[in-house]
Amino acid sequence: MSPGAYIAYFSMEIGLAPGVPTYAGGLGMLAGDTLRTAADLGVPMVGVSLVHRKGYFHQRVDPTGWQTEEPVAWSLDDHLTELPARASVEIEGRPVQIRAWRYDIRGTGGASVPVFLLDTDLDGNAAADRLLTHFLYGGDSHYRLCQEIVLGIGGARMLDALGYADIDRYHMNEGHAALLVLELLKRQARANGHERPRPEDIEALRPRCVFTTHTPVPAGHDQFPLAMAEKALGAGMYVCLLDEFCYEQKLNLTYLALAASHYVNGVAKKHGEVARHLYAKYRVESITNGVHVATWASEPMRALFDRHVPDWRTDNPGLRYAIGVPLGEIREAHRAAKRELLAYVNHVTNKGFDLDVFTIGYARRATAYKRPTLVFRDIERLRGIARRRAVQLVFAGKAHPHDLPGKELIQEVHRAMGLLDTDVKIAFLPEYDMTLARLLVAGTDLWLNTPQPPLEASGTSGMKAAVNGVPSLSVLDGWWIEGWIEGVTGWAIGEPGAAASDDRAAEAASLYDKLERVILPLYYDEPDRYVDVMRRAIALNGSFFNTERMLNQYVTRAYFR
Ligand SMILES: *Cc1c(COP(=O)(O)O)cnc(C)c1O
Repeated sequence: MSPGAYIAYFSMEIGLAPGVPTYAGGLGMLAGDTLRTAADLGVPMVGVSLVHRKGYFHQRVDPTGWQTEEPVAWSLDDHLTELPARASVEIEGRPVQIRAWRYDIRGTGGASVPVFLLDTDLDGNAAADRLLTHFLYGGDSHYRLCQEIVLGIGGARMLDALGYADIDRYHMNEGHAALLVLELLKRQARANGHERPRPEDIEALRPRCVFTTHTPVPAGHDQFPLAMAEKALGAGMYVCLLDEFCYEQKLNLTYLALAASHYVNGVAKKHGEVARHLYAKYRVESITNGVHVATWASEPMRALFDRHVPDWRTDNPGLRYAIGVPLGEIREAHRAAKRELLAYVNHVTNKGFDLDVFTIGYARRATAYKRPTLVFRDIERLRGIARRRAVQLVFAGKAHPHDLPGKELIQEVHRAMGLLDTDVKIAFLPEYDMTLARLLVAGTDLWLNTPQPPLEASGTSGMKAAVNGVPSLSVLDGWWIEGWIEGVTGWAIGEPGAAASDDRAAEAASLYDKLERVILPLYYDEPDRYVDVMRRAIALNGSFFNTERMLNQYVTRAYFR
């Protein structure tokens, strides 16, 4: 990188702040945590995303557990600054004007990172085009393609219009932003004196592009029928490179990003391996995800760090010193966070959750491979366990509006709630978002995760829990393969090294065994030893699974190389 140059970070969603509904889940939170860390460290980045005027959605859940959705109404003016700059793209031959709204992320050291949120809701645009920046992950495949033209091509042009002449690196957070490559290729071709991009132009472009892939699930990869893509984008732009980007008559944005990037990242070591198999032609490396510690640590935990860990906000490795914090202080900080969570649970559900009862948290997108109901596989066994040593469970998570099996899983949680009744108190909290996530990861006693391996690329909520001294009980997949030390930082469901499997009976049995024989006896009979596990979750995992370590790795391996 040259002095004064910037890294432009493109993401379809970014979790900026509570009250700014420009994210759906983990991908957006990671983007937000990355840029918050860049602001803390003074790494010269700018963020680019869409403004999502109607957000993702408000989740309503009826008494049977059925989810319905409502658009989010939020006031852009309360959080963002409108900018006079304009850019435009062509979609199906029509010009579409784009405006940008600015959000500044201020770091602890005084540096800041601007985020530009693109908006097509302008007079003069065709009615349908005005809606393109309304709904995050809404609409059909055509709507998505048009949004991605705005994000990738429009984003690059907006940076120009805003005067960012010196963008040295373009980081694509997932393939949604990959149409950016077409714009950069066009510029590269012109710089080389020809109109139509040639393969050598992509060579020239490669050192400037970085791509992070986030999921081994094929549905997570954007692809569009060639006819649709050609109609929207205009032919000719990418014909020279069709073989590279197109599979089965579809334009595949993952392949577009892979082909154009000198550095490709999987989001945990295991995910890197899986991605290397999926994309054998490309070199895929891995930098494991992290979380922004100051964002996710509860207020009482932040106060504890202030007392014991100098400069922890910009020196996250210092969290290792938590190992010397007296157990009583960890216990008290966590108890304050638990009190806050349970007050909220009781306010919403009126179920009388008890501060002294072992509380398990589970919150993530409700979708089949995450298997949110694995813990209910054998209701009678769970009942038996909880009758001997009390357990209460808090659930949250939205299903994508089109994911009917995901919605049915939320109903299944509600059915289990009815069956277990007073033997295991269960709460489902609607509207899982940044605010609720902060309460949950800090206030539970155990963070449960039961995805079907190897489909969890990383997972980050367990890292947020670790920062708060909440250990995980999780299937060995994603980040937990790296963060897990049995009985030291938490516990595993199933055996290490087990091949990709979906043996739910065996995994549920393992889950119940751990709870019944190891975790609950520790919590109730040897509370100091339980708090010692909590302390090691902070010292060993909080000190490593943070975006400070992650961004430093991106800087040295991807941005400065
Ligand atoms: C952290 C977070 C996620 C991602 O958590 P995973 O463990 O990766 O599923 C999703 N949604 C919200 C609101 C979050 O805060």
